[in-house]
Amino acid sequence: MKQTQIAIDGPAGAGKSTVAKLLSKQLNFIYIDTGAMYRAITLKALELNINLEDESKFTFIDNTRFEFINSKLYMDDLDVSEEIRTSEVAKNVSLVSSHLLVREKLVKMQQVMAENLNVVMDGRDIGYVVLPNAKYKYYITASIKERAKRRHLDNLDRGIKSDLSKIEAEIEKRDHFDSNRLHNPLKQAKDAILIDTSDLSITEVVKFIAEKIREDE
Ligand code: C5P
Repeated sequence: MKQTQIAIDGPAGAGKSTVAKLLSKQLNFIYIDTGAMYRAITLKALELNINLEDESKFTFIDNTRFEFINSKLYMDDLDVSEEIRTSEVAKNVSLVSSHLLVREKLVKMQQVMAENLNVVMDGRDIGYVVLPNAKYKYYITASIKERAKRRHLDNLDRGIKSDLSKIEAEIEKRDHFDSNRLHNPLKQAKDAILIDTSDLSITEVVKFIAEKIREDE
């Protein structure tokens, strides 16, 4: 099989990372969660105590190493997969990812990571910026209510305290910010297939995409 790239974009909580992760396992592809990279940079910026508004402070990205192993993200050899999910990171990640300098550096890293590999990559700008030549492009979405409910249940499942109305407000705010920023906003690529998961299970979505790819390859 020659190199195949699958680009998955969509708003927060639409189920895209669960779909991408399962798909990568079924197809034996590498999974690259670009949202996790923006979150990790936000975590590092918070730890460094820099001014998050000041894009020139983000040159530390040049000395930051990322690696995905079994769908876990390692930053500078440390597994940060759990730490990047805190509400402190969630609250600040949209601001950090709106900086052009941050985006240019992470997009470049993501393109290098995907070179010569079979990858499933998910994010906000994958189909039209990071991997514009990806053979498969999907835009996965769901209603805000449904997305908030899923994240709420997921938190409860993981034993994390959770407030449904707060999550709904946070998702709405993040969507708005991500869709309206100047650089690489959240957008469906023209050639991406739209999947609304409000009334679909994750298993159904994965099956739909995997069948299409297996048919072609
Ligand atoms: O996918 P996830 O919700 O973890 O992404 C966290 C945040 O990272 C998004 O709200 C967005 O601000 C940013 N992001 C981005 N571009 C990407 C992936 C994520 O700006 N390709």
